[in-house]
Amino acid sequence: MSKRDYYEVLGVERGADQKDIKKAYRRLAQKYHPDRNPGDDTSAEKFREVSEAYEVLADGEKRAAYDQFGHAGVDGQAGGGFGGAGAGGFSDIFGDVFGDIFGGGGGRRNPNAPQRGSDLRYNLELDLESAVAGTSVDIRVPRHIECERCDGDGAEPGSSKETCPTCHGHGQVRMQQGFFAVQQTCPTCHGSGQHIKVPCHKCNGEGRVRETRTLSVKIPAGVDSGDRIRLNGEGEAGINGGPQGDLYVQVAIKPHHIFERDGRHLQCEVPINFVDAALGGELEVPTLDGRVKLKIPPETQTGKLFRLRGKGVKPVRGGPPGDLLCRVVVETPVKLDEEQKGLLRQFQDSLGGSNSQHSPKKSSFFDGVKKFFEDMKL
Ligand SMILES: [Zn+2]
Ligand SMILES: [Zn+2]
Repeated sequence: MSKRDYYEVLGVERGADQKDIKKAYRRLAQKYHPDRNPGDDTSAEKFREVSEAYEVLADGEKRAAYDQFGHAGVDGQAGGGFGGAGAGGFSDIFGDVFGDIFGGGGGRRNPNAPQRGSDLRYNLELDLESAVAGTSVDIRVPRHIECERCDGDGAEPGSSKETCPTCHGHGQVRMQQGFFAVQQTCPTCHGSGQHIKVPCHKCNGEGRVRETRTLSVKIPAGVDSGDRIRLNGEGEAGINGGPQGDLYVQVAIKPHHIFERDGRHLQCEVPINFVDAALGGELEVPTLDGRVKLKIPPETQTGKLFRLRGKGVKPVRGGPPGDLLCRVVVETPVKLDEEQKGLLRQFQDSLGGSNSQHSPKKSSFFDGVKKFFEDMKL
């Protein structure tokens, strides 16, 4: 099936700008839209053609590829659903053309060379207590390991490999796409140049098998969200006898219902009633190693921070432990009965009006407000 030129399809000049392309597309899409032409196959085909052309020409990158290479430059990218020959054409063309020019990704690597296995990442969620104290966790890690039946070779023991009949051992095949010749990795041997006559029964010729292993991971005391623990050689098996990758355990600390962690410091909010806040008193506050008493001085305001030295977290990289910062929040009493309300009114009267010396913040605030409105009148 030969395709029409996308510019021709939309009826625009090759140098048309995005505005003109969009305008042309809108006009044609409306004309051929299936809703307007029910049951008309020709219109449906036109609509598809117009949409495909627009998808390519409206995208700067795809348009550049199309301008340079024609349909071969964008096949498998636009429209979807006309795969086959086009599938993967885009990346292969760019891999070859630009790969050679820019040396992109180091050019073509030898598929038979030993390759280090991939690193793996495991996301581990810990509660704060375990992270602070350190712990040991069993994790289950699915990964590829070298097949022991064929020693990673992929060939059934006792059988031999032969030269790949498709590429004659080159690992590459040339494909013609229009005027454009494309070098592609051989689909039969995936670039190795060798063909396994009898694949290993255990790994089906892959040379690696998947298994899930349980690993015991020692979590050092003091780890924090974002810390990574590396387990050497616990990643994927290497290819062609290459070394194994590593496993990285990525730590994330779950939110705690009392403490908030900030590096080596901990914070918590402690509600106190307004009588304690006014008269002072002793509070029991939680720490990671039990309750401790905290003295609250008289006239404590809400939001005041009390620092308990050394009650934070001992950092995993060494150094002194952090502090625990207790932020007191004065709680307004609720569900008061009539007698209690009466006592409070009596108490209010005893303060002698609202702007008294007993509420210096409130007094200065309302003085400021008064001045603000006076200034506005000017
Ligand atoms: Zn095997
Ligand atoms: Zn081959």
